[in-house]
Amino acid sequence: MGIVEEDIARVRAATDLVEVAGEHIQTRRVGRRWVGLCPFHAEKTASFSINAEEGLYYCFGCQAKGDAITFLREVEHLEFAEAVERLASRAGIQLRYDDAREGQDRKRRSRLIDAMEAAVEWYHQCLLTSDGAASARGYLRSRGYDGDVVRRFKLGWAPDDWDAFSRALRLPTDVLSQAGLGFVNRRGRHQDAFRARVMFPIYDTAGAPVAFGGRILPGGDGPKYKNSQETAIYAKRRTLYALNWAKVDVVTAGEVIVCEGYTDVIGCFQAGLPRAVATCGTALADEHFRTLKNFTRRIVLAYDADAAGQAAAERFYEWEQRYEVDVAVAPLAPGTDPGDLARSDPGALLAAVKEAKPLLAFRLERVLAGAELRTPEGRARGAQAAMSVVSEHPDVLVRDQYLMQVADRCRVEPDRLRAALSSTSRRGRPWQQLVDPRRQSDRGGPELEALRLAVHKGDEVVHRLHEVLFADELHLAAFRAVASSATLREAIDAADPGAAELLQRLAVEEAHADPDDVLNLIVHRAGERALHQLEAEVRASEERGPELSRAVGWLKLTLERLPDPEAASALVAWLAQWGHNRG
Ligand SMILES: [Zn+2]
Repeated sequence: MGIVEEDIARVRAATDLVEVAGEHIQTRRVGRRWVGLCPFHAEKTASFSINAEEGLYYCFGCQAKGDAITFLREVEHLEFAEAVERLASRAGIQLRYDDAREGQDRKRRSRLIDAMEAAVEWYHQCLLTSDGAASARGYLRSRGYDGDVVRRFKLGWAPDDWDAFSRALRLPTDVLSQAGLGFVNRRGRHQDAFRARVMFPIYDTAGAPVAFGGRILPGGDGPKYKNSQETAIYAKRRTLYALNWAKVDVVTAGEVIVCEGYTDVIGCFQAGLPRAVATCGTALADEHFRTLKNFTRRIVLAYDADAAGQAAAERFYEWEQRYEVDVAVAPLAPGTDPGDLARSDPGALLAAVKEAKPLLAFRLERVLAGAELRTPEGRARGAQAAMSVVSEHPDVLVRDQYLMQVADRCRVEPDRLRAALSSTSRRGRPWQQLVDPRRQSDRGGPELEALRLAVHKGDEVVHRLHEVLFADELHLAAFRAVASSATLREAIDAADPGAAELLQRLAVEEAHADPDDVLNLIVHRAGERALHQLEAEVRASEERGPELSRAVGWLKLTLERLPDPEAASALVAWLAQWGHNRG
């Protein structure tokens, strides 16, 4: 049953987050905020901040964020409704429930989870006891899986029969198909989704079973792995196998090991690395990073991350920036996977994870290892190949660090490589998109300062700002949400996840800057950006030259008149019109 929205709002309003948090961590007041050691990740200096007035928290270490309800849910592992109920009883609020959609969704979800739980247990018992599972047990033993492993990971066996599961559990048709456990066949009978496969149950982060991965025995028919279809409780792009078991060690050890397969994960656990996870039949995606960064900042890939090539590497660099994580690669010998290595040489697996290198270092090492560095020609070719790998990285300082290594190894003057690097970058390499000034400008500059003010002094600031002043897409999205909402909470609810996170963070930061200074600066920056673009267009277009030159002249004069308020509002109006004309 769902709790009436209005009552949830009452509970939020009546709850003092500082007080609730204070029951779990020590907090102290710093300026207008409260800070303390984060309960969601291990730390020695306080990065957990609370904005008491808004009832919001944000951790600068692990990006945990939310309100009193989220806090209680995460810290005590409660369902949403349970957390609201607890806070309501603290505040003496009588909750009302309705049977509307939310209640039905929860009911449907719990029916599917119940079915999955029954399925996990049934398949598990089949593996442990059924005669038909003898070959599966033999196969697992040959992989080094003893009874402890089978029980720890709740491995199962789907019998070689088309409806053994359906007949045994007799689930209602809708539950059977909605959980992805079976379907109605052409003869109108229930049929199992899995047949003759070793079953790896997949759980969500909280530990509820949501899907299966089924592995065929060696020599069997069909694809090696078959995964559950996506369901109301299972989204591949968001799910990481074994994160439910790994999360404690991930937080303690400060890193997560990402493998390609379920058996690799189990191998890592057996080798003494109980912080491994795997994607479920998909490549690593944005959502996986969004999940992982809640637990750790260091992501170690335990598979050949180089094989996917440049495009994949660039995506990883982008994720590193966006989610503020470090991606490292464990140097496994080509052709070995963690699952095999865990059995043949667990020490080598531990060492590989320990020696994991940043992705760029790993890629660079590959290139240089394949180069002939004993001859001058070979060193020149090696330098060229190495620099093309270095140039993929979006951060100029990082590029320069690696450039020095290449210079050293290939005996080339660093300045020569720098010159070559900047000329290739002007020809427009894909990574340029990442450092496009329109997207990357002012990450911590006036745009962010203006947003911070908009969050803390909305009435005073928001009406003086305008969308055209934000060059960064994320800042723009956050501003739009603030400008179109009556309260900060509404803005956070309305914003997409990235912008919502930014707003939550800004809400626990302090806005010290003088609004006039910030507004002046952000208008000036926007004017200058437009000026540079116009000047480039003047150079590029002969026929529209005179017209554009007049605009350039006006812009220059107006910029000089700043911070005159009239000039500022004329400039903003012009920018809005200009942006509008350019579509
Ligand atoms: Zn934290």
